[in-house]
Amino acid sequence: PLDKDELGSSTWAFLHTMAAYYPSNPTNEQRKDMKTFFYLFSKFYPCNTCAEDFQGELKTSPPRTDSQEQLSQWLCEMHNIVNRKLDKPEFDCKLVNQRWRDGWLD
Ligand code: FAD
Repeated sequence: PLDKDELGSSTWAFLHTMAAYYPSNPTNEQRKDMKTFFYLFSKFYPCNTCAEDFQGELKTSPPRTDSQEQLSQWLCEMHNIVNRKLDKPEFDCKLVNQRWRDGWLD
């Protein structure tokens, strides 16, 4: 079975990549569906304490699905909340598209 860290880093890769390729101008249906996706995801994520805490965060900070930029920033903030909880370094959310979509500019 996957351990919690391997599951976590694979899941973040999937979630950040999905957000990176979300439309800049989503339809109302896409906005609604992406919100629903995150609520359902939080009910079935196969790490109980992670899922419970994430459900709590969704109540305080609902998914911002109005554009790719908004969704990626929101998810970056959610990931940083988990990073803080685990004493991991915070990620600079200005760099999120470079990390997950465009590649590093060097
Ligand atoms: P990860 O945190 O997995 O990050 C992977 C990569 O993402 C990093 O290398 C970095 O390049 C990039 N990154 C880091 N921060 C950001 C950011 N803010 N925005 C964009 N990209 C970023 N583990 C627990 O022990 N307890 C929990 O309660 C818990 N809750 C979780 C909740 C969710 C929804 C998810 C998906 C995972 C959760 N995890 C939890 C797992 C945890 O977040 C890590 O995935 C795991 O500890 C492995 O960490 P890592 O150091 O490999 O990097």
